[in-house]
Amino acid sequence: MKDWLENIQKTLAGKLTLAFVGLISLVMLGMTLTLIFTVGYGSTLAWAVGMSSLAMLLASATFYAFVTRITEPLRDLTDFAQQTNLKRLAVRLDVRSGDELEILARALNRMMQRLDASMKRIQQLAFVDTITELPNRDRFRQETDEAAKSNAVNNLVGAVISIDVDKFIRVQETLGQIAGEELLGLVAERLSAAVRASDRIVRLQTCIARPALLARTGISEFAVLIPDIDDPTQAGRFAQLVAAGLRQHFELGGHRIVLGACAGIAIFPQDGETGEEVLRSAELALSHARNGGRNRSVFFTRKMNQRALEKLVLENEIRAGIEQGQFMAYFQPKVDLGTGRIHGCEALVRWNHPTQGMVSPTKFIAAAEETGLIAPLGDYIMRDAAKKAAGWLRRGIALRVAVNVSAMQFNDDNFTAKVQNILAETGLPASLFELEITESIAMSNPDRVIRLLEPLRNKGVRIAIDDFGTGHSNLAALTRMPFDVFKIDQSFIRALGKDRSAPAMIETIIAMAGGLNYETVAEGVESQEQAAFLKKRGATLGQGYLFGSPMSADAFEAHARNWAARADGMAPTQLPDGLRRPS
Ligand code: C2E
Ligand code: MG
Ligand code: MG
Repeated sequence: MKDWLENIQKTLAGKLTLAFVGLISLVMLGMTLTLIFTVGYGSTLAWAVGMSSLAMLLASATFYAFVTRITEPLRDLTDFAQQTNLKRLAVRLDVRSGDELEILARALNRMMQRLDASMKRIQQLAFVDTITELPNRDRFRQETDEAAKSNAVNNLVGAVISIDVDKFIRVQETLGQIAGEELLGLVAERLSAAVRASDRIVRLQTCIARPALLARTGISEFAVLIPDIDDPTQAGRFAQLVAAGLRQHFELGGHRIVLGACAGIAIFPQDGETGEEVLRSAELALSHARNGGRNRSVFFTRKMNQRALEKLVLENEIRAGIEQGQFMAYFQPKVDLGTGRIHGCEALVRWNHPTQGMVSPTKFIAAAEETGLIAPLGDYIMRDAAKKAAGWLRRGIALRVAVNVSAMQFNDDNFTAKVQNILAETGLPASLFELEITESIAMSNPDRVIRLLEPLRNKGVRIAIDDFGTGHSNLAALTRMPFDVFKIDQSFIRALGKDRSAPAMIETIIAMAGGLNYETVAEGVESQEQAAFLKKRGATLGQGYLFGSPMSADAFEAHARNWAARADGMAPTQLPDGLRRPS
């Protein structure tokens, strides 16, 4: 019985049932009274009606009391839901109804407490770098933004120093990710101490209201916000002191690691009005410091912005140029040093710029590589060159065409299929196609080179290693690679007659190529003496202004026909020195 009563008290269903039963019984009581009074005592009908109304009223009051006990907590719950909807996670429910609503309220309070704590943790993680526990880039940008705004109001000057840890990436590649993270932690500690010390040394005389803030802003990049400085030289001294802190060696897992640091400095408000702008200026200065060598610090200048802008304009122009077909392949002959015949050619990209005329690749290849545009551009030139060579073939000139491949084109896993498609589409036989790959690309990932090039070579495409002698070839890897040709870099040919070691270097490369059964192409042949020397030493082909500069496809076709006709009718003395009349 006691349990039953408690059940009624502590459950919503119990309360509602009780309310309902109470209401019905009161209504019935009222009706019974009404009946007794109307039937038994007809004269007192009014009195009977009054009594039953009173009973009804009583019933309604009881029902209302019960219902409000239920609805009050429900109203609290609704309020609570609305508050949490407005992200007020600190809100708590105070329900003491003793039933399931109270249990539900307590559960909701516990849930909100946990949610509140999680949200605080998420917010912390969003603004803190998890490896070094320093503020991250977003937080740094926000703080700089606020400092810039308050400086603008108070007429103060501040600085941002962007710091790159030299050699960090190389250490991480050698020792692995975990050691890399450990090293970053040590670097962060060192930098924090250096920032605190620099704050004291450099800004001792200034009344420092706001201390400097250190953050991790990139993989190996950190930044320091100095909210107020007396003059920019203070920021320069600050950068030097902080960078000097990094120059002392680190001990990690028994290794002695020597790092270094470059710094870029931006002053605000002059170098940027928002946190984003100031940080970008400091980073632009940093990239100039890095290009200038190790352990340098450079202040941002307007000119840097100008150069960055020019780069951007160049990038947009290249993009538009590709779409509008302003790029084309030019062709430079390669001559067989034994027979004097044109043996093939190299396709070299040219840009027919709408205002600047024909532009050399040295002016835009670097920008195209940096922006990734070299991939579509290189593919376009590859197709253009194959199309032109297939046209010559149809008109009776069978010459092999070589195209240059950039590192980015080579990163594409579809590279092999793409080359095969180009040959199929243009109808150029694989035996008349050659790919030139620089020594540095070849050596950066020998296994990938073998995987991507071997199927093409098996179909008859020839593979040349370009600018040979300028990279750091690993001889063991070199012999495993699917190459057919060494292109001797033009610096060796240019050095002939000037540098005493040049002939020996060229002879060594030719001998090595001979040993591996490779062809050799000497690049940059400009004089008959150079051609004669190369022929005597056994170089297979020569390429250079002596035999023809890069020219358009039509000009090259005419040059090739003319060369063959001239060579046939020429006296041996008229041929470039040392070259035999073609048989
Ligand atoms: P590279 O592949 O080593 O091409 C040889 C460069 O030497 C060409 O410069 C050519 O014009 C130049 N040259 C030829 N004969 C002589 C000579 O007798 N004396 C001198 N001083 N130079 C000579 P170019 O056309 O300016 O191309 C420069 C570089 O740009 C190329 O070097 C190549 O690395 C790159 N390049 C050119 N076209 C393409 C392309 O379609 N794709 C890619 N990825 N790179 C290209
Ligand atoms: Mg080349
Ligand atoms: Mg070359």
